Amino acid sequence: MARDLYADIQEVLVSEEQLNQRTQEIAAEIDARYGAIDGADEILLIGVLKGCYMFMADLSRAIKHPHRVDFMAVSSYGNSTKTSGAVQIILDLQKDISGKHVIIVEDIIDTGLTLQYLRKNLIARRPKSLEICSLLSKPARHKVEIPVDYLGFEVPDEFVVGYGLDFAQLYRNLPFVAILKPEVFS
Ligand code: 5GP
Repeated sequence: MARDLYADIQEVLVSEEQLNQRTQEIAAEIDARYGAIDGADEILLIGVLKGCYMFMADLSRAIKHPHRVDFMAVSSYGNSTKTSGAVQIILDLQKDISGKHVIIVEDIIDTGLTLQYLRKNLIARRPKSLEICSLLSKPARHKVEIPVDYLGFEVPDEFVVGYGLDFAQLYRNLPFVAILKPEVFS
């Protein structure tokens, strides 16, 4: 019989309904903001893979303003739950972003080091504007200040999975954000 991922869950932190509602709210904020900017007929959402894929799909579907999407992938935790702090671009954007209104779409801000690096890297490419949208944030763990323009939810200092976020590449398909039972990590 296939393994039951739901049996590994200790607690659901953010439910499917909460995720859906907050995503609609963020999309409405983005529509209102860019609808009011002269010359911002189009925006570019840059998703940071892999963790962003589910949020990106739902957010993109909810945004009415014309937009394109592109993706980047950076080095991640691998199978460990602790950050190394070292960031490496594994997959880069397909197109030049100079003169574009860009929003980075991230799954979670932990130490903030990944976004700090990405932000600097993308600013050097001279976009017209650069905003940051993150589904989750762990304020207790931040090592650097990141200006977040759109935030879904703050979560406690726990390793979370689901809605795109993995542990050892599993649990991404769960439709909510949850904490795993301690025995799963051993
Ligand atoms: P940071 O550079 O902010 O420390 O880490 C950012 C990246 O680490 C996130 O994009 C995500 O891939 C990974 N990460 C940080 N915290 C968690 C967590 O609680 N669960 C999972 N699955 N990934 C995390």
